[in-house]
Amino acid sequence: MSRYWSQHVAGLTPYTPGEQPKIERLLKLNTNEHPYGPSPRALEAIRNGAGDELRLYPDNESTALRKAVAEYYGVAPEQVMPGNGSDEVLAHVFNALFRHGDRPLLMPDITYSFYKTYCKLFDIPAKLVPLADDFSICPDDYLNLSEQPAGIIFANPNAPTGMALELEQIERIARGNPDVAVVVDEAYVDFGAKTAISLIDRCPNIVVIHTFSKSRALAGMRVGYGVASREIVEGLLRVKDSFNSYPLDKLAIAAAVASMEDRDYFAAQTQKVVQAREYLSKELETIGFKVLPSKANFVFASHPGHDAAKLAAELRKQGVLVRHFQAPRIDQFLRITVGTREDCERLCNTLSEITQ
Ligand SMILES: *Cc1c(COP(=O)(O)O)cnc(C)c1O
Repeated sequence: MSRYWSQHVAGLTPYTPGEQPKIERLLKLNTNEHPYGPSPRALEAIRNGAGDELRLYPDNESTALRKAVAEYYGVAPEQVMPGNGSDEVLAHVFNALFRHGDRPLLMPDITYSFYKTYCKLFDIPAKLVPLADDFSICPDDYLNLSEQPAGIIFANPNAPTGMALELEQIERIARGNPDVAVVVDEAYVDFGAKTAISLIDRCPNIVVIHTFSKSRALAGMRVGYGVASREIVEGLLRVKDSFNSYPLDKLAIAAAVASMEDRDYFAAQTQKVVQAREYLSKELETIGFKVLPSKANFVFASHPGHDAAKLAAELRKQGVLVRHFQAPRIDQFLRITVGTREDCERLCNTLSEITQ
């Protein structure tokens, strides 16, 4: 606390990212990074871009990236909003679409915790809608609302449960709330869920958020984007250009474009992670864990006989990092990133020993 702070700073609750420690023989399964590297074509694009032209500012509109995304999903480049990681896109979305006085933003009680952080930052009241007992999102809870919300946001697949809604369910939520933005954060969609981008034509209030940090193995480059109607993107760009005209550097744009173009590599790497997830889920069940059905690159699991916080601490001693959230309803779960098949084996062997 400093007397020089603006008043609202004291009231902020910053997001706590998973740790990035320096431990030897560390197995890092705590921040949902990809176990394999990015596309070799992305790396080549970075090397090719590392030259004299870096003295120039990058393209402020990230035109090449917007075109590549537009082509991939069959939308117009004007429907793509680029950002320095999807967290930045989310920040602009909160700022541009959810600030409606006292009207609350609806979100699941258990979801990506950054949403609450942005609510504080932008002074948006949050209304938490409890997940069902099986940890699924109930579309009915977002329909026939007694008061008009400021908007709706959820992750699909949801984090940290990994469970996904069907597109029909997302469409029902969007159609039931035609006057507010419905934001679907699809950070993990490539691992087995369906993207709601196909709904945007029919439901112009849907905003889809994607990141290059998870399925495209480029967390270190910081690239994300939103897809929405042209009108919504125009509003988001106004906020972006009132904050930072150049959120994406030249190397990030080049890497992201090359990654989008390398479809074969992407499909193969994604498939490997999905197979490892199925293996990991089965193995964990054999050890006695209850595992939620995941469509992401992580699983959310609890063991009836062992305290989750203790398990996480014990794993850490053995050089294996997983994520544990000290939060109501989920404090007996571990969120475990799907690594390589070998990573999964090491994790399961360690867990078998601990739980014996
Ligand atoms: C990882 C994650 C993000 C943030 O991704 P960045 O592009 O790295 O900022 C956003 N939403 C969810 C649900 C995530 O898990």
